[in-house]
Amino acid sequence: MKTFGLIGYPVEHSLSPEMQETGLEELGINGRYCLYPVEDGDVEQALKGAFALGIDGLNVTIPHKQAVAESEMVETSELAERIGAVNTVEFTDNGIRGYNTDARGARRALERHEVDIEGSEAVVVGAGGASRAISFMLADSGAEVSIANRTYGKAEELAENVSRMGDASGHPLEDLEELVGKADILVNATSVGMEEDRSVVPAEHLHSDLTVLDAVYRPLETKLLRDAERKGAKTVDGAWMLLYQGTEAFEIWTGREAPVDAMNQALRDELE
Ligand code: NAP
Repeated sequence: MKTFGLIGYPVEHSLSPEMQETGLEELGINGRYCLYPVEDGDVEQALKGAFALGIDGLNVTIPHKQAVAESEMVETSELAERIGAVNTVEFTDNGIRGYNTDARGARRALERHEVDIEGSEAVVVGAGGASRAISFMLADSGAEVSIANRTYGKAEELAENVSRMGDASGHPLEDLEELVGKADILVNATSVGMEEDRSVVPAEHLHSDLTVLDAVYRPLETKLLRDAERKGAKTVDGAWMLLYQGTEAFEIWTGREAPVDAMNQALRDELE
């Protein structure tokens, strides 16, 4: 039996078990996906233990993504190293490999909605972990990326890092009106919209030439996405990014093409 799982703290609200086990079942792979709460500071021990126990693959979430990227036990992919965060590890006979499928997940979510990233002007709101993966991916895919954040210093710092691989600049939230007005792609990578029905981007800044991706997936239909739809913009909800980070991990672990539709259905059933 194959064993996969998630390490992080907390992990109990994760939607990955349903999504991943549906994928395994669909392909007739005998396997399971378990949740492992691992507290801050215990991640090296957890990786060693998982390797010794013969676990096949793990997803990594808050607060461990950076620690795994920096771990000497893990051979990190080039993209994950540039981002400075690992969210998927694979245990092989030759050691532990680390990847960042959040970035690839966001790219596939946009591609699925036929969005051209190359040559586009993109605005990413937020400068935390989600923004980091998305901003690197957008710059790497040829977009001009403007990062706006409540704490301006963090936007500036992230933009400086991202600009080593592409076109990026940092901004305060006050610049959003001007930035969004000329943008092709807008991403909410803050947690705003999760706890309360609020949007970090005022509705009047949105327009019909935009594609709006919200990283928030609980709820699926955020205020930002409702406002964007009303303005005639294309919308991509956060479950698409979550789905594709999961299918990318599934493909790394199993070497098989993920049954995307079945995994999408399982995820949306859980969310709805
Ligand atoms: P994080 O590292 O804690 O970053 C949070 C970001 O939100 C920061 O930029 C913070 O700004 C900003 N923020 C928080 N409250 C705000 C407010 N009231 N007004 C304006 N900005 C505010 O979190 P994260 O890991 O990046 O996650 C962000 C969101 O993305 C979460 O909802 C998470 O569930 C979602 N996410 C989704 C996926 C997916 O696959 N769909 C993957 C990863 C994350 P400051 O710097 O000023 O504090």
